[in-house]
Amino acid sequence: MPPPAAAICEELQDMTKTVDHWIGGKPAGSTSGTYGPVTDPATGAVTTRVAFASVDEVDAAVAAAKEAYATWGQSSLAQRTSILFRFRALLDAHRDEIAELITAEHGKVHSDALGEVARGLEIVDLACGINVQLKGELSTQVASRVDVASIRQPLGVVAGITPFNFPAMVPMWMFPMAIACGNTFVLKPSEKDPSASVKLAELLAEAGLPDGVFNVVHGDKVAVDRLLEHPDVKAVSFVGSTPIARYIHTTAAANGKRVQALGGAKNHMLVLPDADLDAAADAAVSAAYGSAGERCMAISAVVAVGAIGDELVEKIRERAEKIKIGPGDDPASEMGPLITKAHRDKVASYVTGAAAQGSEVVLDGTGFTVEGYEDGHWIGISLLDKVPPASDAYRDEIFGPVLCVLRAETYDDGVALINNSPFGNGTAIFTRDGGAARRFQMEIEAGMVGVNVPIPVPVGYHSFGGWKDSLFGDHHIYGNDGTHFYTRGKVVTTRWPDPADAPTGVDLGFPR
Ligand code: NAD
Repeated sequence: MPPPAAAICEELQDMTKTVDHWIGGKPAGSTSGTYGPVTDPATGAVTTRVAFASVDEVDAAVAAAKEAYATWGQSSLAQRTSILFRFRALLDAHRDEIAELITAEHGKVHSDALGEVARGLEIVDLACGINVQLKGELSTQVASRVDVASIRQPLGVVAGITPFNFPAMVPMWMFPMAIACGNTFVLKPSEKDPSASVKLAELLAEAGLPDGVFNVVHGDKVAVDRLLEHPDVKAVSFVGSTPIARYIHTTAAANGKRVQALGGAKNHMLVLPDADLDAAADAAVSAAYGSAGERCMAISAVVAVGAIGDELVEKIRERAEKIKIGPGDDPASEMGPLITKAHRDKVASYVTGAAAQGSEVVLDGTGFTVEGYEDGHWIGISLLDKVPPASDAYRDEIFGPVLCVLRAETYDDGVALINNSPFGNGTAIFTRDGGAARRFQMEIEAGMVGVNVPIPVPVGYHSFGGWKDSLFGDHHIYGNDGTHFYTRGKVVTTRWPDPADAPTGVDLGFPR
């Protein structure tokens, strides 16, 4: 039984280890005295407390960002990129330390946490070259002595609200591009694993970023709602679950802000009868159970086409059974615990309820624990076969190590099933048939498609984003879309008459 909320609150008041906000270039202790617990998922123990921002504390962060924007918005491209290059070097040098912070609060294994830092660093690379992306366009002599330039300018103060599952990478999908474009930034990271974002703030300061350009406020709905309504916040980037993404999109837009809100997912992998089934099984197991299934691009549904279903399920089972589950800081572990006990119990409920809703339970990971870590948020590997499309295990985003296998008679049936999902984040096809793969990439309703690639997360210079309930707003994140999201366009039409020109005189006609 978890301790009652009141007991947790008292315990937190006495805790000395605190994750503070970061405002105006330095740590900012709580002025409201409100905190939340941060737990080590491997042990289940509360290890530290994190400050929860009040409206006043959010206002202080936005004010610091607004003040900094007065000069940062005017800074030269060379000034911005030289700071980002220094930040990149520091990030590289502190990879291990950041990964350790992630593992201690998220639970993912160290190698996976290092991978997350590496993918975040890719976006810093992109931001270091922002001068190329912000070059603008010029047309000369569109009319006699008239030139037209399209330029892009920063928005001002922008905010980012991020989920627990990538506490370093997802913030880095946002702020490097935002500040490279000349904006200042307020980050509200997940309250479940807040330390990595503060480490990033420290490294930015060490790299020479002026105070107030990057700020972090921790907390819950109170902090988020204030950012959504604050008149000085010009744009909001959000990554998280679909219901909250929809809420963020609606609320921020109603308050006149530019908004991109990336939501949840149910990512399918279509396996055609001609596929290399060993390669498909390897890919399905890696993509379904990596990071304990807590990835927005995890494969959570395999669709086996034709008669390959039994053989494919057997190959997946053989591989999945061998996955070594344990604490993230044990180099032998391949998969760690889930983020909270409540989430673990929710994931388990999909497995325990699966048979009654018509699935065949091939592997049941409920009830699993790790010796010496009995209070950790453990769950083992689950594999469900012949999952009915109407069942909860298929319809909901489970966000745990539970892979559903569905059967389809034909390619068309498989595509229809996938396109019927309300989610449209990533999807993959496994086949040796180039024609089928090409048809799939044209017909499938998802934002990111893999051909024999199970987790098609785009590289930094291509943008990331889903369709349907996986993204609200019209900009994907990072890449060219990132530059566009964090800037607004301006078109300048210029005439410099030749000194020899005679005056044109008055003309009330519409300029042509
Ligand atoms: P979440 O939606 O619960 O939380 C995300 C952020 O919103 C957090 O900072 C949280 O504090 C805040 N928040 C939560 N409830 C809120 C409320 N009622 N009002 C205002 N703010 C609120 O998501 P999570 O559990 O932290 O992360 C997992 C989810 O994120 C999954 O659904 C996953 O698919 C999704 N995700 C999507 C992508 C993507 O690129 N599409 C990437 C990573 C994660």
